[in-house]
Amino acid sequence: MKRQKIRRTVIFISFLLFPVTIWYLSPYLIIQAAFEHILNGSFWVFMGMLVLSMFAGRVWCGYFCPAGGLQECLGRCNDKPAKGGWRNKIKYVIWSLWIIGVIVTYILGKNDVTVDFFYMTDHGISVTEIYNYVIYYGVLLILVLPTLIGGKRGACHYICWMAPFMVVGSSIGRFLHLPQLHIEADKDKCISCNRCNKACPMGLDVKSMVEEGTNSKCTECIQCGECVDECPKGVLKYKFLWRKNK
Ligand code: SF4
Ligand code: SF4
Repeated sequence: MKRQKIRRTVIFISFLLFPVTIWYLSPYLIIQAAFEHILNGSFWVFMGMLVLSMFAGRVWCGYFCPAGGLQECLGRCNDKPAKGGWRNKIKYVIWSLWIIGVIVTYILGKNDVTVDFFYMTDHGISVTEIYNYVIYYGVLLILVLPTLIGGKRGACHYICWMAPFMVVGSSIGRFLHLPQLHIEADKDKCISCNRCNKACPMGLDVKSMVEEGTNSKCTECIQCGECVDECPKGVLKYKFLWRKNK
């Protein structure tokens, strides 16, 4: 399907550009900048993710995230669905502790508040010195291991520090009744062929969600549309509509 070719190409290019963009997604630099009351690139990117997710859920994860691109490549090495349950909650613990750390650092920081989107970059590029490669490959290792050991997009499920922004943003969007991109299913058309489950890069049990009518509520769904494009019966569809909280 053309849409998936475009999606996979975009997310792969995003991964190739990761040495350029990694500082803009850094959970550490936002804290370092906070000591000086600087609103750095990662601060603005995380705020952008939060706002985007109010209208588009986790579409960043499905279409643009470099870590997602890396993990989809790794799907060739381990294409088993990652185990869910309590493991999916680990990232919220990491995120909560980190956010508390950022807030405390801002409170303790000094100087007037300033904006420096290109903080700690060289002409906007992140990895420019040899020791930065140690950090870069260290981050890659942190992302690679959960996927190699756990299964499809294991890092997204278990440790991603960005995913909770989008889960929170989606919840805010629903609470405010904003029009929001989501996946809807017509379960009466489903023939239980299981193709959606095989296609899902997050390894989700899409077929069961169709039966239960819970596709649009799944916080692990990254809105990639693989299931939409794989379904032979057109059961699944993108919708960008206001919807009631049920
Ligand atoms: S359920 Fe569908 S849209 Fe959501 S992550 Fe899986 S394949 Fe992508
Ligand atoms: S691919 Fe479509 S028809 Fe097949 S199980 Fe999934 S939703 Fe049902």
